[in-house]
Amino acid sequence: MTFRELNLKDDILSAIEELGYEQPMPVQEKTIPFMLEQTADLVALAQTGTGKTAAFGLPILNMIDTQRKQVQALVLSPTRELCIQIANDLKGYSKNLRGLRVVPVYGGEDIRTQLRQLDTAPQIIVATPGRLIDLIERGKIELGSVDYLVLDEADEMLNMGFKEDIETILERTPDTRRTMLFSATMPKEIANIAKRYMKNYEEITVGTKNAGAENVEHIYYVSQARQRYLVLKRIVDLNPDIYGIVFCRTRMETKEVADKLMHDGYNADALHGDLSQAQRDTVMQKFRNRNIQLLVATDVAARGLDVSDLTHVINYNLPDDVEIYTHRSGRTGRANKKGVAVSIIHSKERFKIKDIERMLHKSFIQEQIPNGLEVCKKQLFYLIDRMENVEVSEEQIETYMPQIMKQLEYLSKEELLKRFVSLEFNRFLSYYKNSEDLNLPERSERGERGERGERGERGERGERGSKPGGRIRLKMNVGEREGIDAKRLLGIINDVTGDKSINIGAIEVTNKFTFFDVFADQMDKVVTAFADQTEIQISEAKGSKQFEDRKSDYRPRSGGSGSGSSSGGSRFGGSTGGGYRGDRSAGRPASSAGSDKPWRNRELGDRSSRSSSGSGERRTSGSNYKKR
Ligand code: AMP
Repeated sequence: MTFRELNLKDDILSAIEELGYEQPMPVQEKTIPFMLEQTADLVALAQTGTGKTAAFGLPILNMIDTQRKQVQALVLSPTRELCIQIANDLKGYSKNLRGLRVVPVYGGEDIRTQLRQLDTAPQIIVATPGRLIDLIERGKIELGSVDYLVLDEADEMLNMGFKEDIETILERTPDTRRTMLFSATMPKEIANIAKRYMKNYEEITVGTKNAGAENVEHIYYVSQARQRYLVLKRIVDLNPDIYGIVFCRTRMETKEVADKLMHDGYNADALHGDLSQAQRDTVMQKFRNRNIQLLVATDVAARGLDVSDLTHVINYNLPDDVEIYTHRSGRTGRANKKGVAVSIIHSKERFKIKDIERMLHKSFIQEQIPNGLEVCKKQLFYLIDRMENVEVSEEQIETYMPQIMKQLEYLSKEELLKRFVSLEFNRFLSYYKNSEDLNLPERSERGERGERGERGERGERGERGSKPGGRIRLKMNVGEREGIDAKRLLGIINDVTGDKSINIGAIEVTNKFTFFDVFADQMDKVVTAFADQTEIQISEAKGSKQFEDRKSDYRPRSGGSGSGSSSGGSRFGGSTGGGYRGDRSAGRPASSAGSDKPWRNRELGDRSSRSSSGSGERRTSGSNYKKR
């Protein structure tokens, strides 16, 4: 099928031709004729990357009356980044349609600019819900003339707590409008919205949920937790053409990993909630333009980033929720390209892999961490490939050739090649000379003995009976001066993790910091729970090995069972996402008590721009990813 056969206007056809679109994508083949020829509403189960912007954009542009200077179409999107992207796409598709104006409105940017743009009487507004409501309340946008309403990434909008806003907006538009709802998944809440606000709608599905995942290969490497970073470097070095996102759990870890990569000469940068909106925009733009090869990011910060040709997604840590794993890995393998989702795990996390395999109906492949020799070989032939395919600018090099030839005439072809290759390659050879094997020794793989740094079996095990693994020393960035003492620390951990069975030992409070031990297999739970805290941050204390041999002094916390029973079974599937759950303020240190932060959503420009955002946080649950 061709675009021409879809009966689009010539001015639209010429624009998409210029964009290089040759054929409609499956979702476009379904929605465009439907929208142009029928009158019903539409619910489309389609993921980002399937061509859905053109699927709703092209028919709407075709139907808009450019002479009428009223808002005729409204597109709602969950994030400012997606909002800007949709508006840009629509502008591209409509560049030959005279008199057509598209204006994006989103939070996190000075409202005055948007107010001025709205004065140009656009026919299409692309908006994030919060900012749109602000503008409606200011009397700047009137939705009474809307003929077409698109809810894009509806499931994400609900996950982000926009349900009420969406309902308010829907109620402000005329009943006669046609509504198109796009969603990657179809949880009950979406079906409810469709039932309540849409008239005899058609449902279409494009591929299955996470269709991209079909092209994704899932692999994992098992190493000692403390060697994660070295493993990451090996993975990156083994894939010289890598263009990917490295997902970390906390802002601090994100910063640390990105800093180390940059320091080690990699083309990387960090994306996390501590950056200003402008800084985030710059990083994302650099990544989109491929000026950055590796983006190290938290899940929340990476949300608005839509890049369709990632070669790899790397889980520096496995997330505690299969849904998050799915979202992460679904970022690669799009648009019919192959993608690889890599996870770096430690031996006690194998059960997590099993859980994900079960839920995704996918097999994961354990790969051996490449040794120095393998990495060097890969890099060497990458260099040779580049040398073979490099574009030689004959004209410019011509001038110097006689002199070069003269200078090197005594060298044979083989000698020449050796020297050129060494010029580029010596760095790798010396780095990987004598590099250690990062794979776990077989003994430890079989679980006969714990890893270094995660010592198991002996010692504490006997005392507590059911705790496998050694202890890890953690450091919290608050101490005595913030009013922390042992009791308070336990209160905070109770509060943030919501899990009283986590054992805390060897508490040491200094003026600025608090140190404590947790069992290796409970560390994830603690670190993840604190992931999005802005003031209290937890990291592994440097040199934590020295605490391994401390006498066991673990205490179950008040009200906790202390039996350690929580370590059994699956941690996946539950809503183990971190962050304070608003109402639990007990035990918080003085510095943060009473501050009602929009925790996770602080990273989202739209919410933080709203005047009521302090208490207006409308997350639907402790986890941003609800079970569907
Ligand atoms: P979307 O799902 O709308 O984010 O689109 C994913 C990517 O596919 C974007 O880069 C679009 O520009 C591109 N795209 C959309 N439709 C087509 C088409 N028919 N042919 C080629 N590329 C397309």
